[in-house]
Amino acid sequence: MFGLTQTDRDVAGRLSARIGRPVLSNAVDVIVEGTTTKVLNEIFGGATVVETVFSGPGPNIVVARPKSFTAEPGSGGSATVVAVSPPDTGHSGAAVVDSRHEEESSGPKLSEADVIVAGGRGMGSAEGFHVVEEIALRLGAAVGATRAVVDAGWVPYSVQVGQTGKTVKPNVYLACGISGAMQHLVGMKDSGLIIAVNKDEEAPIFGIADLGIVGDVHKVLPKLLEALANR
Ligand SMILES: Cc1cc2nc3c(=O)[nH]c(=O)nc-3n(C[C@H](O)[C@H](O)[C@H](O)COP(=O)(O)OP(=O)(O)OC[C@H]3O[C@@H](n4cnc5c(N)ncnc54)[C@H](O)[C@@H]3O)c2cc1C
Repeated sequence: MFGLTQTDRDVAGRLSARIGRPVLSNAVDVIVEGTTTKVLNEIFGGATVVETVFSGPGPNIVVARPKSFTAEPGSGGSATVVAVSPPDTGHSGAAVVDSRHEEESSGPKLSEADVIVAGGRGMGSAEGFHVVEEIALRLGAAVGATRAVVDAGWVPYSVQVGQTGKTVKPNVYLACGISGAMQHLVGMKDSGLIIAVNKDEEAPIFGIADLGIVGDVHKVLPKLLEALANR
């Protein structure tokens, strides 16, 4: 079973071609019953779970969706490690890197953070979004955002949570001015404690929140920031 980095995908695909066995990717669960291996995938933003069973003899190749499995220490294999020098295919140098851009970031990484403070369109503007960043700074948390906010250019794409952004699983997810569209929920629904602030009590985010505050983010969040500053 592989993780879901680009390297993992490359290796899984090449291995699949090499050994002539299929590869199933983006798995959220793998169930082995006797000789049958069943792989579960979520589609339509998590609304439908597809079960796929490998046919034929193993080995079977599965690529896991990030955060779907808890990392556990390996049991220690006994494979022999052989260093291989890649052959010169004559293509190296065909592409030239003419500039490099390092995205500025501070605080914990979104995908590894224990606490995430995320904001949505309800924050009103790029300036309005700053209180989300200040609370995150106070809590030592990472900043997250919805696609609406990223599309508006308030924050970079790297902080987008959801179907076309990152999948996160922090202990605490504070969702501020986020409606809770399925495409957002699929990226954060497995968080430990979900706290939502939204002025609309009918907002779907309250359907998965453990704690909900029905209120205006421009009133609630400055109070939270003040309380954190006085701690
Ligand atoms: C193919 C596809 C992929 C997508 N991928 C993603 C993805 O990866 N991540 C993602 O997030 N979205 C994704 N989307 C977009 C998604 O469908 C929603 O449009 C988006 O998540 C909505 O973002 P939002 O909650 O910030 O905005 P809105 O849905 O506009 O919600 C804003 C919320 O703020 C509340 N609000 C407004 N003012 C205040 C206030 N003053 N105080 C308190 N609450 C307030 C409102 O009540 C509302 O609930 C995708 C869509 C498609 C079609």
